[in-house]
Amino acid sequence: MLPLVALVGRPNVGKSTLFNALTRTRDALVHDQPGVTRDRHYGVARPEDQRHFAVVDTGGIAEASEGLAGATTRQARAAAEEADLILFIVDARDGANALDDDILKWLRKADKRTLLVINKIDGVSLNAVESEFAHYGFKDPITTSSAHRQGIDELMEAILENL
Ligand code: GDP
Ligand code: MG
Repeated sequence: MLPLVALVGRPNVGKSTLFNALTRTRDALVHDQPGVTRDRHYGVARPEDQRHFAVVDTGGIAEASEGLAGATTRQARAAAEEADLILFIVDARDGANALDDDILKWLRKADKRTLLVINKIDGVSLNAVESEFAHYGFKDPITTSSAHRQGIDELMEAILENL
């Protein structure tokens, strides 16, 4: 069995784009509309001469606890619970919001090894972004622009170190 890495975060932060960058596929549906990925989606990352691992793209943890958003949230949590490592994805352009705070609270309770990935760093100041998320308390946040394949190698390295 391959180790499993779960991509967790609110809708539209770039989870599916990151999934595609890690697995080098275009399997995950990337969409401008938040919440397009509704169920769990698995792929395999095959870094050269390194350990391979499975990746699960979750539908994003959304606000509502009922209906479709609620079902998606439960799916994301189930995926995170079975994972060996969680990537908590946030959006550098939007900054930290209440939904990110909620997800973080839940992640802390879940007590799983978690890396913070600050995505969409293209066109924003790195210093500002890192201080924006500093209070989340992650030691070495990883910054990426998954749409431009920036920071993906560094992220891959960090994943492999933590598996
Ligand atoms: P998800 O809902 O978290 O799966 O997010 P998606 O991967 O579907 O991406 C949502 C939107 O953000 C799409 O329009 C992507 O093209 C865009 N996006 C993803 N990553 C980046 C990035 O690194 N930089 C920028 N500027 N846009 C991105
Ligand atoms: Mg998605």
